[in-house]
Amino acid sequence: MVNASFPVKVPSAVIACHHLIGGAWEGNDGTQSFEVRSPYTGQVIGRAPVADATVCDRAIQKAQEAFETWRKTPLKERCQVFFRYRELLLAELDDISHVVASESGKTFEEARAGVLKGLEVTEFAVSLQNMDQGGSLEVSRGVYCQIQREPLGVVAGIVPFNFPAMVPMWMFPIAMVLGNCFVLKPSEKVPLTAQRMGQLLMKAGLPAGVFTILNGKAETSQAIIDHPLVKAVAFVGSTPVARAVYQRATQLGKRALCLGGAKNQLILAPDADPQISVRGIVDSFTGCAGQRCMAASLLLAVGPVDALIAQIKEEAAKIQLGTQMGAIIDKQALTRMHQIIEASKQLGAEILLDGRNPKAPLGGEGGVWLGPTILDRANPTMDCAKLEIFGPVLTIIRVQTLSEAMAIEKLNGFGNATSVFTSSGAVARSVSAESTSGMIGVNIGVPVPREPFSFGGTKDSKFGACDITGESALEFWGQHKKITSKWGAQSDQNWMS
Ligand code: NAD
Repeated sequence: MVNASFPVKVPSAVIACHHLIGGAWEGNDGTQSFEVRSPYTGQVIGRAPVADATVCDRAIQKAQEAFETWRKTPLKERCQVFFRYRELLLAELDDISHVVASESGKTFEEARAGVLKGLEVTEFAVSLQNMDQGGSLEVSRGVYCQIQREPLGVVAGIVPFNFPAMVPMWMFPIAMVLGNCFVLKPSEKVPLTAQRMGQLLMKAGLPAGVFTILNGKAETSQAIIDHPLVKAVAFVGSTPVARAVYQRATQLGKRALCLGGAKNQLILAPDADPQISVRGIVDSFTGCAGQRCMAASLLLAVGPVDALIAQIKEEAAKIQLGTQMGAIIDKQALTRMHQIIEASKQLGAEILLDGRNPKAPLGGEGGVWLGPTILDRANPTMDCAKLEIFGPVLTIIRVQTLSEAMAIEKLNGFGNATSVFTSSGAVARSVSAESTSGMIGVNIGVPVPREPFSFGGTKDSKFGACDITGESALEFWGQHKKITSKWGAQSDQNWMS
């Protein structure tokens, strides 16, 4: 796209997507397929086949065959594949970032940052070659108890559209380094990035069948979840689907960890540093056009903060579409955002900044756009204060005290993130202690923990016991085998003792 005012290179030809089954790329068998459209231009940029239950069965059988060898491959050898994968991905970083941005609507910089964040998890995974040593203890004379982590078998990851590279990489490097074979079901909105990652894994020398890609929608996910050889399911996506996937998998006796949606709140205290808080709040609600599960969505404005809110509005109004903020994934999502904004206005919310019907960037006239939008003086019962909007929309509720803010926070059905902007250590400590969210920010608008700390929320933002990254993920993707042995000399005892 030569004349576009945005730096993302949207593919001009339609890219054919394939499943990756037993190390081979398989195209459309002529039955079902779907189109991939770029949020930047509305153009069709890809076409992918749909894996039905028969295709899923064949792929998972191949993965199970591969597991028998992969599980016996030494940890250090498994890690070597991911060292090579990391090098290959870094060599193609810009190229793959264009693919991520083209299909998800992120800016180029956001796409690049997402790939790098996925690589950080990969780096954690390869560090296991020096760390994951289990343990052993002489528990009585000559008797040793040893514990070792073992893989589960074939495991699956079902992922959303908003981080086409990062969210799969939250899962597959750790799962495969630990010896599992991994089946990825990318979002049907962004299958192109997954294909690129699959190509790099094969180039890095991953044995056939260790990594599988099955394209499709809900039915494909369900065929994977239901397959008897699939031992664990990780899911990231919206809350209703996360809940349904968790129930489906656990009813079948499988291990499941399902991350859902969010409605993250920022608490703005009157003593907040203006520069840090204004920048942090604007970046949090406009970054990735609000399409991230850690985006700020609800600002609980405590006391006299009018001047800070005026600056937030001023900064948000300057944001340029296409360069500083990307596009909305599709028209259906945009329509829902418009409906929530309009309904909140009807109920008395004040539209402080209206991003509806913005001027599209040059070359993006066919794309899907919403400028930063701020709804002020909302109340906790409005949809804009309760629902995940998943767009660049900030809802402000005015409160007089921190206790009022925390009471609203506790009623929030979601539990990914709560951040507080304050200069007071006591306020920060109190919010951290009282918050019901899984991830807390102090003067940080997007409090994503970095490795080796784990990522995961609470309440309707997560179903299942572990977190998805960091050390907690080792528990999810592995099981402990306990070996008790006696090798001492036993001249005074019979062999049964
Ligand atoms: P989504 O729930 O629509 O889809 C996610 C995945 O589930 C896709 O692969 C989709 O094909 C599949 N799917 C859809 N319906 C299904 C069904 N009935 N059964 C099984 N699989 C099904 O989510 P999305 O719109 O792609 O992504 C946005 C959502 O993801 C937001 O709610 C966002 O908050 C959430 N998200 C959460 C986190 C987190 O860490 N908590 C991270 C990223 C995104």
